[in-house]
Formats: sequence, structure tokens, C-alpha cells
Amino acid sequence: MTMRSKYWFVILLLTSLIAVPARTQSDETYINDGTLRRIYTPILMYHYVGELPSDADELRMGLTVSPHQFYEHINYLRVTNHQSISMADLDEALRYGTPLPPNPIILTFDDGYIDHYVTVAPILNQFGFKGTFYVITSFADNNRAGYMNWQQIQDLQNQGMDIEPHTKNHADLSHRDYDFLVYEIMGSVESIEQHLGTTPVTLAYPMGRYDQTTLSFMETTYLSRTVTTMPGAYHTSDNYHEMTRLRITPETGVPGLAQILNVTRAQR
Ligand SMILES: [Zn+2]
Repeated sequence: MTMRSKYWFVILLLTSLIAVPARTQSDETYINDGTLRRIYTPILMYHYVGELPSDADELRMGLTVSPHQFYEHINYLRVTNHQSISMADLDEALRYGTPLPPNPIILTFDDGYIDHYVTVAPILNQFGFKGTFYVITSFADNNRAGYMNWQQIQDLQNQGMDIEPHTKNHADLSHRDYDFLVYEIMGSVESIEQHLGTTPVTLAYPMGRYDQTTLSFMETTYLSRTVTTMPGAYHTSDNYHEMTRLRITPETGVPGLAQILNVTRAQR
């Protein structure tokens, strides 16, 4: 090679490096190392954590865990050496085999209730756990009574909690067209980006409702993982948008929680 052709070779090489098209975020989402993995990580699902109001209906009762019960759960998880991780941590472990701490667990809290700010976060902090909070963004926008506003949500994030979208209006995502899914899903994603400056990695389907159209839509977004309300605690590298969780009910005491964890672990 002459000096002159060497020069052109270098120019060509540099140009080709620059010309590599920028990867879109949705391409990133689907990168993995090709290994099929199955990992046990319970994703606990909580809703209200507080004292029941005297006029509570059946739905509210079924979704409410008392502060004492919650404290006992988190204490139990600490004593049994569980370590809370984020959905992003689990996603990376499934994709690339990144090691997880012993006894990993994900604590999720749906709907953005004020309970999460007042009761849940202080108990999590006391025991050194982090939570994943799925918030309904229009409720925060409108300062709806009983729900966290953006200031409180920001405060949770500053405490090390993960804030993730649960759509804009808590909409049923089944039997919907493309525009509706964009509005509800990407609308809530963008609200979080604007208010908190973070990029969401996961979504929770409101009421656990979705269909094939919703799943196809999720694959076009840059959200890596979506959680359902279906039970189970083993997750696989090829199942991105139908992840299972474990529902915690008012009847779930510490023995109940221990049993849920033991039974689901044995379901190999
Ligand atoms: Zn919900």
C-alpha cells in the first residue's frame, strides 16, 4: 500500500465507522446473548398498604394490606436474607446472565396510592429494600386525592425507588386500537421521562388486561418487560411482555408469604 492509498484507507475506515446507523432503543431491547435462561425471582404485587377506611367495599378490602402486616412481611424478607432488585436487574440477568444477589426479590406497588409514600417507602428504607412503583400518570398530573403527586413520586425516586408506568388513565389495554395504545402507554412513559428525567424499562398492565394486539404493540416500544397479574415466579429470557407476579392479599400473613415463596420456588 502506498502512502496515498493508506491515507484513503484510513478515511474510508473512519467514514464507515461514522456511517454505522445509530441503534434505536427498540433494537436494544431485543438484544440478548442467545442463551435461553429461566430464573426464579418472586415479583410480589401489592396495592394499598394502610388501615381500611370504614366505608371500604369488597374490592378495596381485597386490595389492602395493613401497615403492620406489611412491616412483618418486609421484616421476614430481611431475616430470610432476600435482596430487592429492579426489573432492569432481572431483565439483564435473563438477557446476558448478569449475576443476581442471593434470594433476589422484586417488590411492586401498583396504582401510585398515597400509602406508598406515607407507609411503604419508610418501611422499605428501614430494612434496606427498594420498591418498583407503577404509577398512573394522569392521576399524578391532576393531583387526584388518595394518590401521589409528582413531587411525592420524585421524592420516592430520590430515595432510590424505581418509578414505572401503569398507563395514563388505568385503562384496560385489551381490544384497543393502535392510537389508544400509543396514548395510554407511551403517554405515561413520556410523562415519567418529563417529570423525573428517567427512562422507564417496564410497564404493568392495568387490571392485568391485554391481548395479542397489546403484546405486538409492546414489542415495538423500548420497554423491556411488562408485568401481568398471572401467578408464577420463574421468568424466561424469551418472554418479555407476559411476566408473572405473586399477589399479596389481606389474608397473606408471614406464614402465608413463606408458603407462597416456598411453593413457587418448587414449581420448577
Ligand atoms: Zn392497577
